[in-house]
Amino acid sequence: MSDLGAEFVLYCEEAALPRLAERYGKPLYVYSAAMITQRYEAFDAAFRRIPHMICYSVKANSNLSILRLLAKKGCGFDVVSGGELERVLAADRKAASKVVFSGVGKTQEELTAALKVGILLFNVESESEMWTLAECAGRLRKTAPVALRVNPDVAAETHPYISTGLHKHKFGVPIGDARALYSKASGARYLKVCGVSVHIGSQITDVSAFGEALTRVAQLVRELRSEGHRIDYVDAGGGLGIAYETPSGEFPDYVAQYARALTTPLQGLDVRLLLEPGRSIVGPAGLLLTSVIYRKKNDGKRFLVVDAAMNDLIRPALYGAYHEIVPVVRHSGDAETEVVDVVGPVCETGDFFARDRELPEVQEGDLLAILDAGAYGMVLTSNYNTRPRPAEVLVTGKSAKVIRRRERVSDLLRAEE
Ligand SMILES: *Cc1c(COP(=O)(O)O)cnc(C)c1O
Repeated sequence: MSDLGAEFVLYCEEAALPRLAERYGKPLYVYSAAMITQRYEAFDAAFRRIPHMICYSVKANSNLSILRLLAKKGCGFDVVSGGELERVLAADRKAASKVVFSGVGKTQEELTAALKVGILLFNVESESEMWTLAECAGRLRKTAPVALRVNPDVAAETHPYISTGLHKHKFGVPIGDARALYSKASGARYLKVCGVSVHIGSQITDVSAFGEALTRVAQLVRELRSEGHRIDYVDAGGGLGIAYETPSGEFPDYVAQYARALTTPLQGLDVRLLLEPGRSIVGPAGLLLTSVIYRKKNDGKRFLVVDAAMNDLIRPALYGAYHEIVPVVRHSGDAETEVVDVVGPVCETGDFFARDRELPEVQEGDLLAILDAGAYGMVLTSNYNTRPRPAEVLVTGKSAKVIRRRERVSDLLRAEE
């Protein structure tokens, strides 16, 4: 916030949000380049005592300019589809050797594309996938570097839709079955066993769950080595949560705690640690700018109808997720607050950003910023209700660059007969 006479105006870096809204329209995703870089650097620094590589999870925010920004810092990438792999290559041709490929349903086409460009590691999630990968690799006469994604059966406190580390979830192979599978993999001519991987879920803020998972993984690594396998990599996945609701402490301290939880069980193992953070790098670095179309009262219940909707940011509708919402302009002396639902124009009751939220009173036409929208925001947008997707801008200091132009209705109609 900065003081402009009697007004307090919200900024992203040195760019005033009302100016951005005027220039680029609304709803608008706004990202801070400095914050993305700083969070990447803090993450990297937290693991300085152990050989490691950060493979940013592309699915959290896959905009090419953001991938390029991270690639320039030396970051690798975690992809979960052939499309994401193409994005990474479009952002930086040379990044292929820093790509890990995760996901339960990789197709032959996707596996083949990844083999051709020579990625770092395939995180294999089932025996069937293992044999399919061996076949694709054999056809190309290329060796596939393989880690099995094991499911450690660790409960992580998070939303059930983004918890992945229990045996009832579709992800990975049960850790108890892993040794038998590794022994099959090591007999396959075109597979090269080189790691163990794990990912227990997303938006996990209690770091002890990661420690528990890595303790089980470390035990498996010892067993596998004693059976003669060469395990160079442990891929610890992503999942570190961010503070959507309460302001947290400093990120470097928090990520240091996370690093301690992960690396303590790996002491003495001499492995290279791969990390796949998504949300914790980009989440707090983005916001969704929207404006109030109507104020409305139904039997005393107050609504702010805004020009963004669930198609632009689905997290509240999908997970009941909380996002802080703040007026972009405040006047000194404004003290009135009210309890409102902040809702979008889409024809679904689930189309809300906040319910029964106490907010400073705002008027029709005023701007609101929905915070912490840098991860799982734009990537989960849709065209429901034939709503064109918002534009995205990346701010560096005073300058703002459009990194995805606003969609037009004509873009949506073009693909149809
Ligand atoms: C989604 C996902 C990530 C990233 O999770 P965050 O919670 O955004 O850090 C990392 N690895 C895999 C395999 C994933 O599916």
